[in-house]
Amino acid sequence: MGTADIHIHSIYSPDATTTVRGILKQAADVGLDVIAIADHDELRGSLEAVKLAPNYGLEAIPAAEVATSDGHLVALFINKLPPSGLSLVDTLSHIGDQGGIAIAPHPFNNLPNSLSMEAVLGALANPHAKAVLKGMETYNMGTQNFDKVARKLSVYLPLAKIGSSDAHIYWAVGGAHTEFPGKTAHDLRAAIENNTTVAIPYEEEFSAKALLSWVHRITLRRFGFASDAISASTPIDTQPLSKTMRQKIKKKNKKADGD
Ligand SMILES: [Zn+2]
Ligand SMILES: [Zn+2]
Repeated sequence: MGTADIHIHSIYSPDATTTVRGILKQAADVGLDVIAIADHDELRGSLEAVKLAPNYGLEAIPAAEVATSDGHLVALFINKLPPSGLSLVDTLSHIGDQGGIAIAPHPFNNLPNSLSMEAVLGALANPHAKAVLKGMETYNMGTQNFDKVARKLSVYLPLAKIGSSDAHIYWAVGGAHTEFPGKTAHDLRAAIENNTTVAIPYEEEFSAKALLSWVHRITLRRFGFASDAISASTPIDTQPLSKTMRQKIKKKNKKADGD
């Protein structure tokens, strides 16, 4: 079995605190085989990860967490960022046209950015959208107190069960994750499409210590610092962001909210 965490946020998300190489380092340290950085309406971090991942003995998938008008959607195996604000069905069609697939992150929990059962059933009733929407998170480490409904309903849905960290801090990477037959990104995609993945929860209570840790790190970020590791053999530490990196992440950042 391989292990994957396919919903991680990097410094390219305005609400996250770890550089791409920091995430790769942590992912390698906790023994993941495949990761996807899925930043809020942003593809660049995940493309950086795809390029650097082999140095860490990992594979990375190009991905983004897209804000559809119906709620968040994790797009995988994409090369163009779908525009935000489209309906779920239109976003799925955009992803399908470029050969990608999608996962419903933290669904059915009534939080403002989550897809509703109605939206997901609507997509599954549309053959083109159904061919693209292939999985749903049944364990999301960030919303772990709200996941029960998703797990109950997942039994009735033709969607692969995914566990994800939704990490906005480095030590959460891989905390909840997905197991799949095989080892590679290709194997993972086949497992998602064949509904043979297994979602693995984070067993500890996450929210309180994560919130404190996040507040600490997001404050450091305001002052130009991030969790970073210079190389695959250097430990993760709080480091000042380079000027180039500060400019890069400033470029497109609009306020993105939550999860
Ligand atoms: Zn989200
Ligand atoms: Zn997220």
